Amino acid sequence: MQTLDTRQASSLPVALANINSKVLDDGTLKKLVDPDIYYAFERCRGTRKPMAKKDANALARSIREWAQSKGCIGYSHWFSPMRGPHHGEKLETFMAVDFETSELIVDLTGAELFQTETDGSSFPNGGLRETHEAAAYMGWDMGSPPFVYGQTLYIPSAFVSWTGEALDQKTPLLRSNDAVDTQAMRLLRHLGDTKTKRVVCNVGWEQEFFIIDRDKYLARPDLVATGRTLIGQTPLRGQEQSIDYFGKMNPRIRRYLDEAREKMWEMGISIDCAHNEVAPAQHEISPIFSLANLAADNNVLAMDVLRDLAFDQDLAVLFHEKPFAGINGNGKHNNWGLNTDTGANLFVPGDNKPENRRFIAFVAALMRGVKLHGDLLRIGVSTAANDHRLGAQEAPPAIFTLYLGKLLEAHMKSIVDGGEIDGYGAEDKYISVSTTVSDIRANLEDRNRTAPFPWCGNRFEFRAVGGNQHIAFPLCMVNAAMAEGLKHMCDEIDSGKEVDQVIRETIAENQGVLFSGNGYSPELYDFAEKNELIHLKSSPEAYLQLTSDKNIKLLTDLKIFSEREIHARRNVLLEAFATDLSIEARTLLNILQTRILPVAIEDADLGSGAGLTSKFLSGKRELVQALLSEIDKLSDAFDNFPDGDPEQAALYAQETIKPVMESARAVADQLEGVVDWRLWPFPNYSEILHDHQ
Ligand code: ADP
Ligand code: MG
Repeated sequence: MQTLDTRQASSLPVALANINSKVLDDGTLKKLVDPDIYYAFERCRGTRKPMAKKDANALARSIREWAQSKGCIGYSHWFSPMRGPHHGEKLETFMAVDFETSELIVDLTGAELFQTETDGSSFPNGGLRETHEAAAYMGWDMGSPPFVYGQTLYIPSAFVSWTGEALDQKTPLLRSNDAVDTQAMRLLRHLGDTKTKRVVCNVGWEQEFFIIDRDKYLARPDLVATGRTLIGQTPLRGQEQSIDYFGKMNPRIRRYLDEAREKMWEMGISIDCAHNEVAPAQHEISPIFSLANLAADNNVLAMDVLRDLAFDQDLAVLFHEKPFAGINGNGKHNNWGLNTDTGANLFVPGDNKPENRRFIAFVAALMRGVKLHGDLLRIGVSTAANDHRLGAQEAPPAIFTLYLGKLLEAHMKSIVDGGEIDGYGAEDKYISVSTTVSDIRANLEDRNRTAPFPWCGNRFEFRAVGGNQHIAFPLCMVNAAMAEGLKHMCDEIDSGKEVDQVIRETIAENQGVLFSGNGYSPELYDFAEKNELIHLKSSPEAYLQLTSDKNIKLLTDLKIFSEREIHARRNVLLEAFATDLSIEARTLLNILQTRILPVAIEDADLGSGAGLTSKFLSGKRELVQALLSEIDKLSDAFDNFPDGDPEQAALYAQETIKPVMESARAVADQLEGVVDWRLWPFPNYSEILHDHQ
């Protein structure tokens, strides 16, 4: 098991020689410092007790010297406020005054390395902090190694208020990792495991994004202000021919992605897969999985690298969940699994009875987690942007089910009927192709790409996460649901029930969460209703459930959030939703009034000046009239946006603003199809998407 990402690559090709060269992983740190300092650091990491000042200073000095040798002039704690995937940083120089000599010296003290203090009141805090109660701290997350980007040494950190409450995405994830560890250890002991000391969550994300020309991006005020196009007719050729998925990359994009991957490898992000995605101009990268908190940090950093490099190369990268209506949007599948310090993967059926039983027990806990806490999973993936994607023929709908595969599902059901628990498995399956192709060994279970949470043989794939989300919060919600499932089973066993009886009952009570059909079909809705699965249709509806009695009890029992933090988080989410919609509405209004309307009027006049008449021409004039009334409706709706109460604002955005925006868009999109193309005021979908084909 890795701790500070100690993956070593011994015989990689020359192009990968710099792998991990800019990341201060355990192996590098060990070589840098005296053994007794490293030991003191290890002790600090194990106990959380701060290092002695002298030792911490020695550690910091070695780290600074290493960073300087990589070209750094300073450092910054690197943290994740509650505001999407955008990290926070405050650049500090390796500089201090020596008060004995009054001279400037190059320095980084131990105290500066481990923590820093700042004004926390200007970050989203959901009411946790008044403007005059501002102090907040960043503390180095020693489970995520420092790295060098540009001329700065970045120190991944947790971010909490002076009162110790989480102001960031990382702190709750770290707490949820601990909750899973605690509860999983309890279950392992009940299953007879006396050796394991720790259970960790591993994650491998798959990041989807579009790459477009920067000048086209800048020519679209909607993309610049909101990350998505607020109007736009589907391109003449979209993804209908399925030629883009795994298609050959355009050479310019290929060079860009190769360079981005190399930069990522240097900083310890082990990208091992890149390919074209379903939509034109869409791509995906994914790394080798790592510990969840490190994976979350790496994902934010990878997004930064993609963005920064795009800027250098006159490209723009779009992570938004639905940048273009009518074609595939950006998701971020999170492959999530549990491993032990003894090297076991808890979601692998294993090759003996005890491992098989352990696997079934952990899947049972997850069944309960997803069945009863689908609301938490939904909250975890709820953003204004992701609502455009969920349930739109490219992503699972906002109903959470588990897909185990036909054999495993049948096995689970046989357990309910009294069958043996540890009997899952089958002969390897071979597919014969032709005389020149060796028979292919196939997985036991087929894939289901419409499932929100399918089992993939050794992990589960949480497919509902949005491309522009910080993955820490969705993962925290998955961990919370899992930890509750485990806790419930352990409490039952502690109260005197047999382990196997509890496994059987947990499966029996929660089998209604297993769904192997097509998640994009109406069949799912009937299934959900029959099995009383939670279905929260919109993000605001979901956020309101965060503070239900059940969820407050669950999250506080597991020590993932305090009650105050839960209320604060709900406020932050509601506010972000309302703010996103308010910016979108304002941008759309501005575009319609100042760009589309003048062009549409000019165009409608063209035909009438020449005395021409036709259905087409009169249709255009009707559209201009329709646009005028849509503008009035949108303008009124926008003027009435409630401010103050975040719940009221978010519900208004959902119920009033969204439908008005949609109907205004429909008229603008019709106009785009008929107006003189020379007049259209910005690049259309075809021009944006087919640049690099
Ligand atoms: P897909 O076929 O779904 O597109 P990819 O190959 O793109 O899948 O990505 C799969 C991801 O799952 C990778 O990041 C990989 O490292 C990760 N993964 C593999 N095994 C595990 C595991 N046991 N736990 C967590 N993540 C894993
Ligand atoms: Mg996938």
